[in-house]
Amino acid sequence: SGSMSRRQAIEAVTTYEVQTDGFPEPLAETFGRNVFSLSEMKKRLPKHVFKAVSATVDKGVPLDPTLADYVAAAMKDWAIEKGATHYAHVFYPLTGFTAEKHDSFLEPDSSGASLAEFQGKTLLQGEPDASSFPNGGLRGTFEARGYTGWDATSPAYILENPNGNTLCIPTIFISWTGEALDKKTPLLRSQQAMSKQAMRLLKLFGHSDVDTVVSYAGAEQEYFLIDRHFYFARPDLMTADRTLFGAEPSKGQEFDDHYFGAIPDRVLAFMIELDRELFKQGIPAKTRHNEVAPGQFELAPVFEKSNLAHDHQQLMMTTMKKVAERYGMVCLLHEKPFAGVNGSGKHVNFSLGNSNQGNLLNPGDTPHENEQFLVFCAAIIRGVHKFGGLLRASIASASNDHRLGANEAPPAIISIFLGEQLMDVFDQIAKGGAKQSKETGVLELGVDTLPPLKADAGDRNRTSPFAFTGNRFEFRAPGSNQSIADPMIAINAMLAESIDHIATALEKEISDGSEFDAAVQTVLEGIISEHGAVVFNGDGYSDAWQEEAASRGLLNLRTTVDAIAQYDEPEIKALLNDYGILSNRELEARKEVVLEQYALALLVEAKETAEIAKTMILPAAIRYTGEVASTAANLAAAGIEVTTPTLKTMSDGLEGLDAAMDALDEAIAGFHDADDEAAYALATLIPAMAGVRAVADKLESVVADDLWPLPTYNEMLTIL
Ligand code: ADP
Ligand code: MG
Repeated sequence: SGSMSRRQAIEAVTTYEVQTDGFPEPLAETFGRNVFSLSEMKKRLPKHVFKAVSATVDKGVPLDPTLADYVAAAMKDWAIEKGATHYAHVFYPLTGFTAEKHDSFLEPDSSGASLAEFQGKTLLQGEPDASSFPNGGLRGTFEARGYTGWDATSPAYILENPNGNTLCIPTIFISWTGEALDKKTPLLRSQQAMSKQAMRLLKLFGHSDVDTVVSYAGAEQEYFLIDRHFYFARPDLMTADRTLFGAEPSKGQEFDDHYFGAIPDRVLAFMIELDRELFKQGIPAKTRHNEVAPGQFELAPVFEKSNLAHDHQQLMMTTMKKVAERYGMVCLLHEKPFAGVNGSGKHVNFSLGNSNQGNLLNPGDTPHENEQFLVFCAAIIRGVHKFGGLLRASIASASNDHRLGANEAPPAIISIFLGEQLMDVFDQIAKGGAKQSKETGVLELGVDTLPPLKADAGDRNRTSPFAFTGNRFEFRAPGSNQSIADPMIAINAMLAESIDHIATALEKEISDGSEFDAAVQTVLEGIISEHGAVVFNGDGYSDAWQEEAASRGLLNLRTTVDAIAQYDEPEIKALLNDYGILSNRELEARKEVVLEQYALALLVEAKETAEIAKTMILPAAIRYTGEVASTAANLAAAGIEVTTPTLKTMSDGLEGLDAAMDALDEAIAGFHDADDEAAYALATLIPAMAGVRAVADKLESVVADDLWPLPTYNEMLTIL
């Protein structure tokens, strides 16, 4: 391949200088500047139209399509003032990426001039060719038509480019038969299903004035940055987004000196510009810091309604990649770009609530008295226990398998962490009723001049995949490169079913003559005795937990192939079907797409592994062997007998590499004959790739450094 050599890359990195002008504009004026927000609409829309749109956004009231003409006209004027020449329906196909179809505002009129046109119908509906997006068999090639439909609950925004801006409109994407071809449609459906049941339950608590309950999501995004010269010298990163070779560095993350350490200047400059770009789009970027591994960082926005959080998260990932380029770096969102180095997740924090009830997962100071909180919390415990398989399946991918099920946090077993105080409350409930909440207290600092610090109700547990963190749950298993739609769909779905179950049980208790408090106690007691097995507060990394979880009957699905099989479980199909989230056909299609993507990702990796081994590693090994051999021969000719173990190591290595490469070629050749390509990839391609890598990584520590073609882990992770 024509990639850059390692030495050129290092040379280029060390002489690279970042160009930046700084930012004259005050931050406060930046926020939301490129968003067609409610406040912008208020200025531009007739009163009755604005009222209708804000009722849709805030309360989920259906929008009268005849109002779309007003919105379209105002949106177009705003966009053109902002320098837009085009508009695009933005949608979220099953690949997990974001797709845009751009159209010009200009339409020629009969006089030969052209007019900026954008009507209600163009806002409401688009018609991209669906044939280039995976659909899992939802349409034949003769039915290529797909529709995009305006999601008024997610605001339109401007995407800037020095050569002209684009008005972007978030949409759903469906087939001409109305089946979902995207991630947003089921996300909206799941939100609606959850809201309906949550309102029912709130009514039992005396809140009949609630018009909707929304799920909120805040996704912590982990990522790596490396200099782009290294990237271009690594064909594996270029094709697979992860290194397929590379010996572990002598200094890894064992010193724990990177986490929360000082952020390197170039990276900080990138983060500052990234925040600005995100602010312009109304994305509330909040927290930025170093992560555990060298070269690894995190960005967390403030949580938002999950549909909006999803759209923002997708835009955030694209923006991160773009801004990194401006600083001469590449942003790697892969879950495991470097073997043996901490992987990247996307912790999805979620809660539910609305403007008049606030956060329903807020326990207050005395959770044992907060029945409403306990009931919602119990719904989550029950949901995670019953539908742990769905949660696991929702985040399955070839790349995330490197985290879950490998020796890394969190494990593939889906359990729930409650923390000490809440655990204690549920223990009391199990024994007949909660009488008290453990004190959370104040931390003793021993310094009189410092204000007191409040202790959290529970410590953190970094090993749990699903942890209560004070006023929300944090689902830690999603991968850094994944859309948050799938996990949020699973969470909303399990909540809808669990809350439905609880509301029905309470209604029955009450109609059987129970007092309300007693009814709550009975229902909670039932849930904790039936579903308490999913609660685990210990060390999720330990081998003991693997055994313990098995004895509790919890699933431990280590691979995507195992996890996706959960979509065939009758309970999961019924859940998604009954609550109108995904039909059996839609679910089947999703299953096929995930497995197809899994198999293809592994095939691409296998082919790239073979190519690098053949064209880069083998030649380097041959050259070095030649040098050692000719030196030995020259010495022998001069009458000096040396036995060099290196020669033996190299000839063994060459032999091993040849054998492993043959095995890999054979595995690749067998791929297209496989009935089930995903299962084949798992059973055959993965071990064959590992075989080649094992020999190659050993050679890396023997071959002369100046002959080694690929930038090393040390170089990529520490030179920034
Ligand atoms: P951590 O200490 O877990 O790393 P961060 O500050 O990095 O915390 O991220 C926490 C995430 O949780 C943020 O996105 C934050 O907005 C989000 N979050 C906080 N409260 C809630 C809530 N009630 N519901 C959903 N997400 C929340
Ligand atoms: Mg964090």
